[in-house]
Amino acid sequence: MPRITQEKIKKQTKKPPLSSPPLKGSSSVIANHSTPSKPYRLAHTTSHDGMTTVDVRGLSIGGNHVVIMAGPCSVEDEAQIMAIARAVKEAGATVLRGGAFKPRTGPYDFQGLGKKGLQLLKKASKETGLRTITEVMDPRQVDLIQEYADMFQIGARNMQNYTLLREVGRTKHPVLLKRGMHSTYKEFLLAAEYILAGGNPNVILCERGIRTHVSELRFTLDLNAVPYLKQETHLPIIVDPSHGTGRRDLVPAMSRAAVAAGADGLIIECHTDPAHSVSDADQAISIETLEQLMREINTIVGAIGRTVATL
Ligand code: PEP
Ligand code: MN
Repeated sequence: MPRITQEKIKKQTKKPPLSSPPLKGSSSVIANHSTPSKPYRLAHTTSHDGMTTVDVRGLSIGGNHVVIMAGPCSVEDEAQIMAIARAVKEAGATVLRGGAFKPRTGPYDFQGLGKKGLQLLKKASKETGLRTITEVMDPRQVDLIQEYADMFQIGARNMQNYTLLREVGRTKHPVLLKRGMHSTYKEFLLAAEYILAGGNPNVILCERGIRTHVSELRFTLDLNAVPYLKQETHLPIIVDPSHGTGRRDLVPAMSRAAVAAGADGLIIECHTDPAHSVSDADQAISIETLEQLMREINTIVGAIGRTVATL
């Protein structure tokens, strides 16, 4: 058998170059950190003094205030988004949601208004003062969306799109990262870690329901995630009771439960004409339901020593 020299072994085991450079968190944090056993070392509670608050143009997410984000699944047209923006502002929400680029199950479903949708969101924000959140689906959309919206939403289907996570990690723009519908808490926190390690500390987690054996509902809203993640990470956690249930009649109860469980906010689909929503019509609540829910949430947050964020 030929003798294999050390040199040869070195050559054979030399790793090919990485297509993406290692992220910042890798070496420096290992060196400074006393709990290297957590693979999500930047997201872990011990890497931060107290809990993180994310500043969204002066609106703080993750502090004592509970932030309510509301709006349609999709931006449909100018009249729709302006009317909904005015109504959710009046109801007491501080962030307007609305998808301009939509991840739809079928390619023939409405895919969103794209740039036009972003322009309409900005217009609604200018008039009402609401902060805005919209989904980014592709790294090529990052610059454009950053220009128009106050927060990126990374959807459940893209939680493990590492190229996209790296791309938003290069900005300092707030990112709401939704939990994948099949993801464990560890995978969720590792996805957040990609953004943090890229240099963007402004990450907010969002529990939006997972697939379980419960076939009667669209998803199962996993509220265990809230107290569990509160112990495991310093990042704010908000809850999406709309996708988490898929049914408008279940949204108020799960919203109340989420806030009682300690969520830092809610993201709720609502519409001036819920049944005619172009996407996710079954889960959109009416403005009247939102108004009633806001009153109930105010009572619940008062009972746990918090307040609802205002503009
Ligand atoms: C949405 O917010 O409309 C959406 C598509 O959410 P998710 O990624 O959680 O399905
Ligand atoms: Mn939706």
